[in-house]
Amino acid sequence: MTSSSSLTASPASILHEVFGYARFRGPQEAIVEHVSGGGDALVLMPTGGGKSLCYQIPAIVRECRGHGLTVVVSPLIALMHDQVGALHEAGVKAAFLNSTLDWNETQEVERRMLRGDITLLYAAPERVTTPRFISQLDSLMERGKLSLFAIDEAHCVSQWGHDFRPEYRALTVLHERYAGVPRIALTATADALTRADIVERLQLEEAKQFVSSFDRPNIRYTIVEKKEPTTQLLRFIEREHAGDAGVVYCQSRKRVEEVALTLADAGVNALPYHAGLDAAVRQKHQDRFLREEGIVMVATIAFGMGIDKPDVRFVAHLDMPKNIEGYYQETGRAGRDGAPADAWMTYGLQDVVNQRRMIDESPAGEDFKQVMRGKLDALLSLAEASDCRRVRLLGYFGERYAPPAPPAPPVSIEAAEAAGTPGQALSESGSIFRFSCGNCDNCLFPPQVWDGTDAARKLLSTIYRVHQQGSFGFGAGHIMDILRGKTTEKVTQFGHQALSTFGLGAEFSETQLRGVLRQLIAIGALEVDAQAYNTLRLTEGSRAVLRGEQTVMLRQSVSTPSERKPKRERSSRTALPAAAVSLDGAAQARFAALKAWRAEVAREHNLPAYVIFHDATLAAISERAPSTLADLQGISGIGSKKLEAYGEAVLGVCRSL
Ligand code: ADP
Ligand code: ZN
Repeated sequence: MTSSSSLTASPASILHEVFGYARFRGPQEAIVEHVSGGGDALVLMPTGGGKSLCYQIPAIVRECRGHGLTVVVSPLIALMHDQVGALHEAGVKAAFLNSTLDWNETQEVERRMLRGDITLLYAAPERVTTPRFISQLDSLMERGKLSLFAIDEAHCVSQWGHDFRPEYRALTVLHERYAGVPRIALTATADALTRADIVERLQLEEAKQFVSSFDRPNIRYTIVEKKEPTTQLLRFIEREHAGDAGVVYCQSRKRVEEVALTLADAGVNALPYHAGLDAAVRQKHQDRFLREEGIVMVATIAFGMGIDKPDVRFVAHLDMPKNIEGYYQETGRAGRDGAPADAWMTYGLQDVVNQRRMIDESPAGEDFKQVMRGKLDALLSLAEASDCRRVRLLGYFGERYAPPAPPAPPVSIEAAEAAGTPGQALSESGSIFRFSCGNCDNCLFPPQVWDGTDAARKLLSTIYRVHQQGSFGFGAGHIMDILRGKTTEKVTQFGHQALSTFGLGAEFSETQLRGVLRQLIAIGALEVDAQAYNTLRLTEGSRAVLRGEQTVMLRQSVSTPSERKPKRERSSRTALPAAAVSLDGAAQARFAALKAWRAEVAREHNLPAYVIFHDATLAAISERAPSTLADLQGISGIGSKKLEAYGEAVLGVCRSL
């Protein structure tokens, strides 16, 4: 708020006037009320859930009521500039203190802080606990001008979290020294162990906990079988996401380089990012990703921590991550703005083999490796699943998926039959899925399932016979050749055409058998020995399958779901962002002109375009064809400061067409 004159400022009025949003999202309202009133809170909300407003609005409300400064502790120094810039755009007095400032700039911020000229101050944890900063806080405290502490990325306090920062441990000083000052800790980490650790380490036992669902309903999950991954990816981008910003994750630096080149050759605006690149190049690519539109970042997992670009339209995995935690975190970077987004992954037998090898060859202890294998298996069964991916993902994090309210019951029996039972979907093979989230590949296109038990037994028994014959060290390719009756050089060399299973599985395609092998590995009925050229080995679990006691059901891979996916309505040639696809011709022209204007403003302000206005806001303006300032009022994302700063310019752009 520009002044503390509006003593009556309510959370709802600040949401409307400062941020230009019509309503709170999910639990935001309850959190904001609680914290504005001086309560402590622990907020667990998925990425994109809208955590920032949970402390920004209380900070403004409390400042208006005369409580003074809110300190936001965040480890993400690289983001502070843009976060503070976004608050400035909304007319909020904010600043940051971190190592990117020189001495003069630092002192200037400190002076403003002590003068009461800052509502929100962002600072790195190591800064907050310095004697200098503490003495400044002391001085504010004495004058009753220390309003609130917000501890962002609170999982950094826990060694169980994926991003432990020892400096976070020292943050107990906030509680001990400034006992009366409310604290709000926030994290997107979904796992229970980390949560408990946060409460203990930050002494938040008394804090009210706000736990949101970790579902990301706007993200569509799709997992396809890996055939020619780069071509599959290219097709996916061209069909679904031409012109969109996205992230493509690959396992190795080399793959990153290759894929980035291939995409660029095909006309996609792709850049590589991995730890092997020069720091300056990395920075440049990250800046371009944030600042420009429609960049596809091809990266290793080194990329992404703290990227809060809201309009990432897809996250693709060309290789399988290590576990579901990683997968969920990485895919969570898509669609933070709530608009439709895709999480798309290709995976194949080689992924399974590679991940196993990495675990086997790691120097970790056997116990740790066992945990890692278990986590990998959970991801494998997600990939092999023929039922709802969302149910499985949330189930992994201990959450039961509550499907969206079913449509109103159909009126006639015929209509009921045609519509199916709400909350259930019938697959082509007749099996019933309990839930249909309506937004994952398996719910949209229930895959055909086939009984692979016979094929599985034949594969296992081929391996058994090969070993019985005294020859070891054969991988998947050779075993499949024997079963399919192919007289390759290797088969003849080892006399494997004489085995009783030779040619016994001629009716199975190689794709089918690969699927069976993956499934066998996923259920532990087969092992890959990475130290011995990926040799296949029987396990204790093989027995049950061999004896026919365990059935092996597999998804039919007729074609990749992305090929069957009904395209979301959009023209890939014009490459309109999702927000603008439903606009008519004249509105599309306004949208394009507004985007060009926004790019100009963003450049002048040295901020990403979305900080000025989101795509959705530009689309709403384009649709309304405003001719007066009053026409702009009430459009989501236009607060009073932005209306004042940009209203006339926006009208000018719209009128010029
Ligand atoms: P998180 O930190 O939880 O990942 P953010 O605070 O960055 O999420 O919010 C994600 C996006 O959602 C931002 O672009 C933000 O402007 C938008 N947003 C948050 N709350 C609302 C709301 N109540 N109405 C509209 N948009 C919102
Ligand atoms: Zn589903």
